[in-house]
Amino acid sequence: MRIPMVDLHAQYLDIREDIDAAIAEVIAGSAFIKGPFVERFEASFASFVGVGSCIGVGNGTDALFIALKGLGIGPGDEVITAVNTFVATPESISLTGARPVFCDVDPVTMTIDPDLIEERLTDRTRAIVPVHLYGRVAAMDRVLAVARNHGLKVVEDAAQAHGARVNGTAAGAFGDASTFSFYPGKNLGAYGDAGAIVTSDDDLAVWARKFANHGRSTKYAHEFEGINSRLDGLQAAVLSVKLRHLEHWCELRREHARAYSRLLQGVEGVVCPKSPEDDEHVFHLYVIRAQRRDALRDHLASMGIATGIHYPQTMAELPAYRQDAGGPEVYPVATGLRSEILSLPLYPEMTIEQIEYVVAGIREY
Ligand SMILES: *Cc1c(COP(=O)(O)O)cnc(C)c1O
Repeated sequence: MRIPMVDLHAQYLDIREDIDAAIAEVIAGSAFIKGPFVERFEASFASFVGVGSCIGVGNGTDALFIALKGLGIGPGDEVITAVNTFVATPESISLTGARPVFCDVDPVTMTIDPDLIEERLTDRTRAIVPVHLYGRVAAMDRVLAVARNHGLKVVEDAAQAHGARVNGTAAGAFGDASTFSFYPGKNLGAYGDAGAIVTSDDDLAVWARKFANHGRSTKYAHEFEGINSRLDGLQAAVLSVKLRHLEHWCELRREHARAYSRLLQGVEGVVCPKSPEDDEHVFHLYVIRAQRRDALRDHLASMGIATGIHYPQTMAELPAYRQDAGGPEVYPVATGLRSEILSLPLYPEMTIEQIEYVVAGIREY
């Protein structure tokens, strides 16, 4: 048996007819950049998240950059974010001219620890970017409380958390603005690069839409300098088809996560993610903590089981940031976690036999 981390082909086969028809329709209508397919997806995704507007852009990194810039973040400012994330989060902060300031995380949820945010504040701090890592919503009530107390903007990096909810509020509906990536391997993935900003701030929405499209309102009315970062029609059509399946796929991910946690119970040296009692977690990744992680990983690889490490280094350890970020002693939790974390294969189309095979491999080890 060979078990990949994700199986995009299996997903395509399940929805092939609708996808092929949607793509053919875009081509027949030559609606390649912006246009009706993009507008349709933007409207349905805004309503899925429960916000006023969705602005489709080129990718999730641009989405974060545009949202932050639109909220007035720029040179001289500091933006606090989790030290364990994908590099796109601090990159997008730097793109605005601001400086990313990292914060350690909670050892159980592995998302930003709200109690530590205040220690990272200076008089230059302007915003917080919580990351809903692995598909689990960060502790938003407490993050928002810190932000309110200090007059900070909040932009959720929801690139891994499409469809996650806390008491009915969706990831993306908490902050001043939020951003999604539709990179193919994400829980809602396009067939290429794509991303979106969502917000209920109408002024920000209007500005972001113009900025992402050369600063224009109509074809040659360039009101200010912008960039070219647009969602294309083919991606939007694919995303509209897939959005109809997203709730179901989230439920399957949770089911598989529960199966893993049940089957891994009592295995020595392995800590499972806290089982979801509600829908706050959509398991973009199912990440265990394992002693002797690297040897376990090799053993699973020898059985044909793919695994991942998200991420092998904290942001503070990367060459781009280590000068400024302070050493590992500033981030003891995330630094400790990064040598124990192991992402097991998890995707909606997985079978229980595949899950049992992965668990058997871990037990055998
Ligand atoms: C994927 C991802 C991004 C960036 O998305 P791209 O579409 O690849 O630019 C940002 N933040 C996190 C946490 C991600 O996982």
